Amino acid sequence: MILATDLDGTFLGGEPADQKSLYAWINGHEKFQLVFVSGRGLASILPLFEDPRIPKPDFIICDVGATLVEGRSLEPVEPLQSLIEERWPGSEKVAALLSTVQGLVRQEVPQQRRCSYFYDQQTDIESLKKKVEQLNCELILSAGKFADVLPGGVNKGYSLQLLARQYRMNKDHVLVAGDTFNDLSLFKSGYKGVVVGNAEPGLPEATAHLPGIYHATREGAGGILEAMHHFAWLQHPVTR
Ligand SMILES: [Mg+2]
Repeated sequence: MILATDLDGTFLGGEPADQKSLYAWINGHEKFQLVFVSGRGLASILPLFEDPRIPKPDFIICDVGATLVEGRSLEPVEPLQSLIEERWPGSEKVAALLSTVQGLVRQEVPQQRRCSYFYDQQTDIESLKKKVEQLNCELILSAGKFADVLPGGVNKGYSLQLLARQYRMNKDHVLVAGDTFNDLSLFKSGYKGVVVGNAEPGLPEATAHLPGIYHATREGAGGILEAMHHFAWLQHPVTR
């Protein structure tokens, strides 16, 4: 079994008791594979390795899909990483073109092969879309405030599919989990999935018609446990 999960609001979200149950269950099942699929940059994920309770991932997909590394060595997964790199025009070029978009503010966070911004209702989204298209890049808007510009065609779902193909992961054994619109591509990849209880408004509706997607009541880690039970990965519901 393979859990490919978003971090903030999902794997790291929910009640502390649910987090504890989920992490302990994963740590107790050696053959279980874990993939982090996050909007964070790698540098912002590494501090999690210092928390002994949090299970170590087998792979990390971060930068909203633009970075793929092996969980133990933190070495790039090749040739996939190079394939993504080739499609990136370079942060300077992207930042220069987007500097004229009204109401767009660059995020000061560690990031690779992507440029992340804040947007709001004042932002000229049409102009942003046009310029991103001009760059042959991918634009992902999420949580009502994050705008990520990524290499063309790259998103969380795309990168997970590349990884799954390279490592011959059985499609039926994968469960994806997320809470915002940057996770939508995961839900559209054809795997089983869970939209956790605290999802961004609109995401439950956007995923309602997709087959194999479970909409949990509980938040974050609790929602993942709920889905593991729903898909019969757990013999019994994990109670708090
Ligand atoms: Mg999230």
